[in-house]
Amino acid sequence: MSFNLNKIIRNNIKDLIPYSSARDEYTGKGAIYLDANENPYNAPYNRYPDPRQRDLKKGIADFFSVEPDFVFLGNGSDEAIDLLFRAFCVPGKDNVLSMSPSYGMYEVAANINDVEIRKVLLNDDFTLNYKEVLNQSDNRSKLIFLCSPNNPTSNLIKNESVFYLLDNFDGLVIVDEAYIDFADTDGMLPFVSEFKNLVVLRTFSKAWGLAGIRLGMAFADPGIINVLNKIKYPYNVNALTQQFASKFLNKKELRNKWIREIIRQRKWLSDELSQLNICEKIYPSDANFILVKVKNALALYNFLKEQKMIIRDRSRVQLCENCLRITVGKPTENKKLIERIKEYSG
Ligand SMILES: *Cc1c(COP(=O)(O)O)cnc(C)c1O
Repeated sequence: MSFNLNKIIRNNIKDLIPYSSARDEYTGKGAIYLDANENPYNAPYNRYPDPRQRDLKKGIADFFSVEPDFVFLGNGSDEAIDLLFRAFCVPGKDNVLSMSPSYGMYEVAANINDVEIRKVLLNDDFTLNYKEVLNQSDNRSKLIFLCSPNNPTSNLIKNESVFYLLDNFDGLVIVDEAYIDFADTDGMLPFVSEFKNLVVLRTFSKAWGLAGIRLGMAFADPGIINVLNKIKYPYNVNALTQQFASKFLNKKELRNKWIREIIRQRKWLSDELSQLNICEKIYPSDANFILVKVKNALALYNFLKEQKMIIRDRSRVQLCENCLRITVGKPTENKKLIERIKEYSG
């Protein structure tokens, strides 16, 4: 394969002169700032945030043992997904590949950007038919979206499958690892310095317990990161989020405690569910949710909803007929769920 970043960037993006903000042009500290038309009152929130997120990026780079220029930060990982389309896919001409079933945002972002998405069905055991992914690609294929552990099937994609695609595909291979902290692996992050066409997505929304602050990460070769930085909104990560996340990086122990507890509860929930007659199959999970096949998914979903117990009905998703997706909650919440399902099944 012959991956060449310059060959896959859209021409308009290659030629783009990015917006240069006041805080890009003067990056020193302690000055009198009369350059950005900010209000001089109401410090510190009167000031625009650092467009390059330097302090937070340094903290994140240290935490994940990578160099800061391998890190892109966005308003959730959804921002990185959208920017990848805008940087690399010519609307109406280029295409991307993804697996099915998988996270719905890849398809929505493709549709918004008017880019064809080719969905390759997973095998019956939810493993990836990586050769078929490559078969379905052509010279207008720019991106492959993989999700590991996959939402909603909850299984990891084997590193070997990802390596095969990285070695044989001329575009970018994006591995969304939103749930990797609940799996017993470091995923693909350790390989971002080795593969020039690998992008690893991570998020603060799941294991970190910070979905509300909207912070996502993309890790990749600095060439790719520079393209994303060039086209992002100048102030895409707000000051409150930058400060809060920087402080939260010190709470590694607390985060690890949550992860351990959620993994324990995942086992408890699976064991309990497996004893119920209406559960036909409980899929093994590497994530913080469980996919269950039941006799009549919609009926159970509605029964639980009546009692303000909300789970996700995935029964209309490919390969997931009569499947429900249950997020692992606190022990008391999980107990209540099992009690309610027992009431339902009588
Ligand atoms: C929850 C989730 C995310 C997180 O997206 P954010 O925008 O960072 O909140 C990303 N990918 C997958 C597959 C998810 O399920």
